[in-house]
This record gives sequence, C-alpha cells and structure tokens, in this order.
Amino acid sequence: MADKHRIVILGGGFGGLYAAQALKYADADITLIDRRNYHLFQPLLYQVATGSLSPGEIAAPIRGVLSEQKNTTVLLGEAVDIDPAVRSITLRDGGVVVYDSLILATGSQASYFGHDDWKTWAPGLKTIEDATTMRHKILLAFEAAERTSDEEERRAWLTFVIVGAGATGVELAGALGEIANHTMKHDFRSIHPQDARIIIVDSGKRVLPAYAEDLSHSAEAQLIRLGARVRTGLSVTCVDENGVSLKTASGEEHIRSHTVLWAAGVAVTDFARTLARKTNAPTERSGKIKVAPDLSIPNFPEIRVVGDLAYVEDDKGKPLPGVAQVAMQSGSYAAKCILRKIKGQPECKPFKYFNKGDIAVIGRASAVANVFGIHLKGLPAWLVWLFIHLMYIVEFQNRMMVFIQWGFLYLTFNRGARLITGFAATQGVKGTQPLENLGE
Ligand SMILES: Cc1cc2nc3c(=O)[nH]c(=O)nc-3n(C[C@H](O)[C@H](O)[C@H](O)COP(=O)(O)OP(=O)(O)OC[C@H]3O[C@@H](n4cnc5c(N)ncnc54)[C@H](O)[C@@H]3O)c2cc1C
Repeated sequence: MADKHRIVILGGGFGGLYAAQALKYADADITLIDRRNYHLFQPLLYQVATGSLSPGEIAAPIRGVLSEQKNTTVLLGEAVDIDPAVRSITLRDGGVVVYDSLILATGSQASYFGHDDWKTWAPGLKTIEDATTMRHKILLAFEAAERTSDEEERRAWLTFVIVGAGATGVELAGALGEIANHTMKHDFRSIHPQDARIIIVDSGKRVLPAYAEDLSHSAEAQLIRLGARVRTGLSVTCVDENGVSLKTASGEEHIRSHTVLWAAGVAVTDFARTLARKTNAPTERSGKIKVAPDLSIPNFPEIRVVGDLAYVEDDKGKPLPGVAQVAMQSGSYAAKCILRKIKGQPECKPFKYFNKGDIAVIGRASAVANVFGIHLKGLPAWLVWLFIHLMYIVEFQNRMMVFIQWGFLYLTFNRGARLITGFAATQGVKGTQPLENLGE
C-alpha cells in the first residue's frame, strides 16, 4: 500500500486550526505543530489584561480540540529552520519533521518599530504572558497610587498611555475606563480611581483607521464618555520608565506615566524570516510573505502560507487585514487545495476573502460594528460582538464560562480576575512606602 500524503501544519492559531479541521476526513497523515499546547482566542486577550476573564477561559488545549480527528497528530515544538529542498522542518529540540505539503500559520508578533528596548516599559498584547503582564502592571499602578504621598508620583501612577488606536488599543482604553469609573470606584481610600487619565495616542488621523469614518467617530465619542482621551497625529519617539515622549505638530511632548501599553504594529516571527530567506519568497515591509493567488510560495507549490503571515491583496489591490476571519478562511482554503491535489482534481481557484464585517468593542453596551455593510453603534453593535465572540470560542466549556463571566460583569461591573499573582505582588512598588509600614 502506498504511503499516505504527509501534511504538516505549523501553528495552531486560527489559520492552522481551521486548516486541520478542514482536513478531518482527508486520507492523509496530518501533523499539527505548535510551540504552545493550546489554541489562543486572541480577540479576548484584552479581557485577561483587564481582569474580566482568566487565561484558561480564552485558551483550549489543541490536543483536546483535535482528539476526535484520528488522522491528525499534534506535536508540541517550535520550528526554527526549514529545508525546502528536502521538505523538512527542524524543531528547536533538534527534532526533524518531513512533509509532502506544508501549511504555514505561525502568525505575527508585536513590533516596536526597531525599538525593542521599549518592550521593557510598554508590554504588547499577543500572548497570555503579555496579557498577565499587562494585568499586573495595571493593577499595581492603582496599588502604588494608593500608597504614595507624592502628588506628582500619584499622577504618574494614575496615568495610562495606550500606544495605538486600532481595535486592540480602543478595546484596552475602553476596558480601563470601565475599571477606573466603575469596577474599582469604591475600592480605595487615598485615591479616586475615576481620576485615572487614560490617553490613547496614534500617529494616524483617527481611531480605528480601518473602519468607516462614521464608526471611527462614534468609537471616539464612546471612548470619551468612558473618560479616555484620544490624541491622534502624534508619533512616539521614546518610551522609558517615566513615560512616553511624543513628536507633535508643535514640537516634543512628554507624558509622565508608569503604565504605557503597546497596541501598535505587528511583525512576523523569526521562523517566518528564515522561511522567506530559504525560499527566496518576496516579503512586504513587516516581513509578511507575498504569496501567489493560491496562497503558495512562488516556486514552492507544496508550501502554502495562511493567516497573519500571508500578504494577500483583494480585488482592489488593498492588503487583507490581519484578522481572525482571514486566517480561518485562508486556513480552510489551503487545506482544501491540498485535498484537491491528493485526489488528482484540477487546481483550486485563487483565494477570495469573504468579508463579513468588523467589530470593535469599547465597553459595556458600547461598540461599533460593520456587519455585511450595515453600520451599528452602541448597544446593537455590542450584542452582535457578544454573539460572534461566543460562537467562535473554540471549546463549548469555555463558551459557557465566558458567557457566565460576561453576564456577571454586565450586572455588577465586577472583574473577578483582578489578581496580582507571583513575585510582583510582594515586591512593593517603586516610589511607595515599604510594605512593612502598612502593618499586618
Ligand atoms: C490583542 C488582539 C486582539 C485581536 N482582536 C481581533 C478581533 O477582535 N477580531 C479579529 O478578527 N481579529 C482579532 N485579532 C487578530 C487575530 O487574532 C489574528 O488575525 C489571528 O489570530 C491570526 O491567526 P493566525 O493563525 O495567522 O496566527 P495566530 O492565531 O497568532 O497563531 C499562530 C500560532 O503559531 C504558533 N507559532 C508561532 N511560531 C511558531 C513556531 N516557530 N513553531 C511552532 N509554532 C509557532 C503560535 O504559538 C500560535 O499558536 C486580534 C489580535 C490580537 C493580538
């Protein structure tokens, strides 16, 4: 009996998982490799960063998700090298995996535009670790503000700067506004959390630049209602422990803050750069791979790139956005193309993205959405957001947990996952009284 076609999928995010699921009935040996043992629902990361949800509620073990799919093996490992000539991938631990067809879905990571040192002071939001780091930083800022007697320091602790006014920045700013104005309103004695300054900065002209102008203006108005301040047309020139420096139309400005959060810019991972080098694949500025219309790499029809890592243009020459819908549809498409090939059917038609719309949530009953061209603002947009996010969370158990948490949050404004865990909680905070002064 002839050996089965070996399909390797790198990455178990939206692109990789949807590719694997589209191959459920394939007469092939499928191996999905990820450096994490779980699929992460990134659109809800900001809710972990702001204490609404716990990490376990937005992640599902990949092995569990695919356990019924008997043609698929799941491996924990990080790809570090590829030899396209012999069709093999090398993992960090030295393991080698061979493929006949490869689907690459390794996604993207935060980019600091060549200033990686800013990461120390301004965590990004791409992984669970990032989200818990942000959560620590936000909660510790309120704790430090409560304990300092220095007015200027207190103002710096209560100033939150979010760099980037895309969907992630807007969602973070809105959630911070709710924490300050509602969740923690009665929790402190020396400070009023409502005094927190939440500033969202961006070099562009408006928040949510990828959305229609009316939605973008509505989002800004909804943010302002939550106490956030939007500052556009400014570029960041420095981030350090004392805050952020900005280049404005009239010169330089410095905002003192101990909590700068990064929601701007994405770049591809190191492995993707290795792949581009080894295959001579063309790339765009951030490193995304410019793929052929069938998502393959020029001269390597057996390698297909999907999701955030692929650079694909629509009919009008506009690049497709780095969103979950693109990753899911491109993942399924790549899988189906391989299936056609295995079955000896004609080549698949070029990939076409079907855009169902965009949604950004700002707060409780506050959101903007474009659903099949219909623009929704406020409560209707928020209800659509709620429904769609619950639908797409991968595991039923997580869906129920998130639904219960959101119901609770809606009724009480309480954020149950407001824990500061680990070392940071007991270390005290710079600029505050030593912990022993607080007594037992
Ligand atoms: C904070 C945030 C909010 C977002 N909100 C929305 C939203 O509201 N709506 C929306 O549509 N989209 C949203 N997105 C974008 C969406 O999550 C991405 O477009 C989508 O996750 C891309 O899917 P992907 O499969 O290409 O990559 P990912 O989902 O990032 O998956 C990549 C996978 O590859 C693995 N991997 C990476 N390198 C290696 C390696 N070398 N070896 C092995 N495994 C590797 C990673 O561990 C990961 O599991 C958001 C993204 C973020 C970060």
